[in-house]
Amino acid sequence: REHVVVVGAGLGGVRTAENLRSRGYLGRITLVGAEPHPPYDRPPLSKQILTGAWEPDRAVLRDKPGLDEIGVSARLGAAAVALHGTTVELEDGARITGDAVVLATGVAARRLPGQPDGVATLRGLDDALALRDALAEARSLLVVGAGFIGAEAAHAARLRGLEVIVLEAGRVPCERALGPLVGELAARLFREAGADLRCGAGIARFTDARTVELADGTTVSADVALAGVGAAPALTWLDGSGLDTAGGVACDAGGRASGADDVWALGDMAAWWDPVRRRRHRAEHWTSAVDQAAAVACAITGAEPPPPAVPYVWSDQFGLKIQVAGRTDLADEVVPLHGDGLDGGPVRGTVVGYFAGGELVAVAAFGAARYLPRYRSLVAAGAGPAAVSAVAGELRSAAT
Ligand code: FAD
Repeated sequence: REHVVVVGAGLGGVRTAENLRSRGYLGRITLVGAEPHPPYDRPPLSKQILTGAWEPDRAVLRDKPGLDEIGVSARLGAAAVALHGTTVELEDGARITGDAVVLATGVAARRLPGQPDGVATLRGLDDALALRDALAEARSLLVVGAGFIGAEAAHAARLRGLEVIVLEAGRVPCERALGPLVGELAARLFREAGADLRCGAGIARFTDARTVELADGTTVSADVALAGVGAAPALTWLDGSGLDTAGGVACDAGGRASGADDVWALGDMAAWWDPVRRRRHRAEHWTSAVDQAAAVACAITGAEPPPPAVPYVWSDQFGLKIQVAGRTDLADEVVPLHGDGLDGGPVRGTVVGYFAGGELVAVAAFGAARYLPRYRSLVAAGAGPAAVSAVAGELRSAAT
């Protein structure tokens, strides 16, 4: 192949270009990005950027000289508006034809029905800078949605001394990632940090950019409101491409888009076939985009693909790192492995195992990073309860 066009200059797009080069690809690479900024990393947006610990330049993945260095021709500040075969059409009318196209355009923040424009969302660098500046002037923050982003923003606001109210429609925070039982641990982190977390809050609507009316008619308001209610791929630009975009761009287990020989998709926008779940799955996690970029670069260059990795996600909340390795959604049983957070003890140091049909399918660690690598390999091996508790015993005695 002589020309690879990568659409989306975020994590997955940049990593694809880097992997193509490191695997010996010598042809042209064009990287197209909607935003004018040099490609940047998103996890720091809700962490170091929001707290003010970092200026944006520290989040840059690769600046112009860095892209030049690996021979990537970047077209930044021009969104792709259509895909015809392997020709990408840009909003400025340019058409770029490759002999392979990699789609990595990520997701857009979800909005609540009728959400006023002044309600903050947190997806891109401009959002993070605007929210950082708004928090610097505010005394209170209202967050709708207690997922990872809502939790990290609540933490940043508490560090700045703001009063924080968090409305969550579900039973616990981060329920999708952690499940209902373990999500209780996340709830305790909010409360211990002094955030006013209200779960099961039936949110009726925003009445203005700073006020939410609840289902019972009461209203809650703050100086700044943030909607952290998830994200969805913005795929209307692929209408007419012939790709299956329901639920993300449908791909096989190696990222090739269904029915298109020379188009791959990866990262937050892509729903790859997951042989473990036996269905397509779309992940919105940093490590997943990185792993998929390596796999797609191998497919394009004909190199041996890396072995499938155990899914991994982390979040920094209230001074503690939450890490999840594996597929918690498959679990039918949750077992404490370290610490007694599930019995009301300290959350820090708690590790929980998720089992399905007697096999370890995931672990969640709260401020217990040192334990994770061992458990991650047990998840990869689908270890049973005896093997898992032997390792837990060994790790506990090594810690004392
Ligand atoms: P992105 O990195 O989002 O890149 C997509 C790029 O495509 C963007 O630059 C966008 O401008 C561009 N684009 C969109 N449409 C077009 C178009 N039509 N034409 C051209 N370009 C386009 N994950 C974790 O595991 N741990 C964390 O702690 C964590 N924290 C996060 C914090 C925040 C605030 C956010 C937003 C995400 C966080 N994530 C985290 C998720 C992680 O950053 C994403 O999974 C990862 O960035 C996905 O990479 P991607 O390449 O698919 O998308």
